[in-house]
Amino acid sequence: MEVIHTVEWMKQVARQARDQCRLVGFVPTMGALHAGHLSLVEAARRETSPVVVSIFVNPRQFGPAEDYAKYPRDLDHDRGLLERAGVDVLFAPPPEEMYPAGFCTSVSVEGLGDRLEGRVRPGHFRGVTTVVLKLLEIVGPRFAYFGRKDAQQARIIRQMARDLALDAEISVCPIVREPDGLAMSSRNRYLSPEERRAAAVLYRSLDRARQTIATGERDTVRVVESIRSVLATEPLAVPDYVEIVDADSLETVIRLRGTCLILLAVRIGKTRLIDNLLVEVSDVPGAAAARCVL
Ligand code: AMP
Repeated sequence: MEVIHTVEWMKQVARQARDQCRLVGFVPTMGALHAGHLSLVEAARRETSPVVVSIFVNPRQFGPAEDYAKYPRDLDHDRGLLERAGVDVLFAPPPEEMYPAGFCTSVSVEGLGDRLEGRVRPGHFRGVTTVVLKLLEIVGPRFAYFGRKDAQQARIIRQMARDLALDAEISVCPIVREPDGLAMSSRNRYLSPEERRAAAVLYRSLDRARQTIATGERDTVRVVESIRSVLATEPLAVPDYVEIVDADSLETVIRLRGTCLILLAVRIGKTRLIDNLLVEVSDVPGAAAARCVL
């Protein structure tokens, strides 16, 4: 695996691969890698070669009171994982490579980024789209892989790719979970053993929503109630939001129809966790009941 720290060298290596008609695959990450990240690498390896993974803790997507300084960083460990996973290139630029002095451009997707996570974390998605666009420009992949764990982020990046006619096709991969259902996340490392046990309530609450929907319930107020009733059983869990939205517009819906996302953000102690459930409801009379994907 080649490890690259500069933008120019990364561009050159990717350009060479494209010149040889190879299909570059790209997985952007912030490191502290886990099986969720590696599932994106596996998807990339099945469809593309060479596979480029970036590790860059992007200062511009953290708010002033957020965890940028203490975000977990372990490049040596990550490097070993990626090498064993068969990654071809690790791109790990220092902040000054990505944001040289005088950097003053940003890109933002209007509307979709103002709600949900964007409301609680102002400027977050502007930071994400700016860095992702720059990374896509540097790596020039044919396919770029993102996790549905960050469903709003994936939706916004797809919109950016469509609006700006980017060459990269955006692929969104399933959520990888721990045995008790907790969605894998680099931030899970912050949890104390007691908080870690409590954090499984996010999954249990979404699983309850799935059961509620399976009984035929389509009223989103009732589904949200069923989620909140489970979250309320865990004293360490403080919900930020529980929302049911149309998967395309990210607007709140009052009835489940078409493809919806049930999104939640919950604080467990000082750690903020997000998770979601994808719900597909068929309009066709007699078709199978709603399909829920955790
Ligand atoms: P991050 O390092 O947190 O910025 O995540 C990098 C990519 O990995 C993003 O596209 C995430 O959505 C994805 N990802 C993070 N956790 C998971 C997970 N548990 N399952 C699938 N994808 C994930």
